[in-house]
Amino acid sequence: MDDIREHYLAWLRDAHAMEEQSLSMMRGMLSRLEGYPVLCARMEKHMAETERQVGALRKLLEGRDSGASVVKDTLGKATALGQVFSGMFADDEVIKGVMAGYTFEQMEVAAYKVLISTAAVLEDTTAIPILEENLAEEQDMADWLFDHMDQTTRIFLARDEAGLPARR
Ligand code: MG
Ligand code: FE
Repeated sequence: MDDIREHYLAWLRDAHAMEEQSLSMMRGMLSRLEGYPVLCARMEKHMAETERQVGALRKLLEGRDSGASVVKDTLGKATALGQVFSGMFADDEVIKGVMAGYTFEQMEVAAYKVLISTAAVLEDTTAIPILEENLAEEQDMADWLFDHMDQTTRIFLARDEAGLPARR
């Protein structure tokens, strides 16, 4: 049971790092979305959701992890995780950002699914609805990005053809 608990706490810390990373990537992308008001509004909504998620994870960790500082652990982890996605997010092209965003949301969905299973094994019943709420927000965001991929692509192509900044 101790091993399971260690995995659980490590995965909670990873999720916290993942959300911090997600915030910084969305913040960077939002600054380049002036031609995409619908996408912009949805991302602003998800940023607010993500800020809430970070707080919820922090509370979960504070109640369960008696060890090292959550924030300190998170900083190193965010760097490792971020390397996978930051290149695509940093790209000026909105399409690559949206593809990376969609992929990132799916990773978040998987992370919460794993955490819910682990919480169930540990009978941490108070954590489960909190993790389920985060999972539902990630799933909604992933679905939204997928459902609007056509619209986003068409806006990008139309702007490009109109000679508007193709990278915005
Ligand atoms: Mg999230
Ligand atoms: Fe998300």
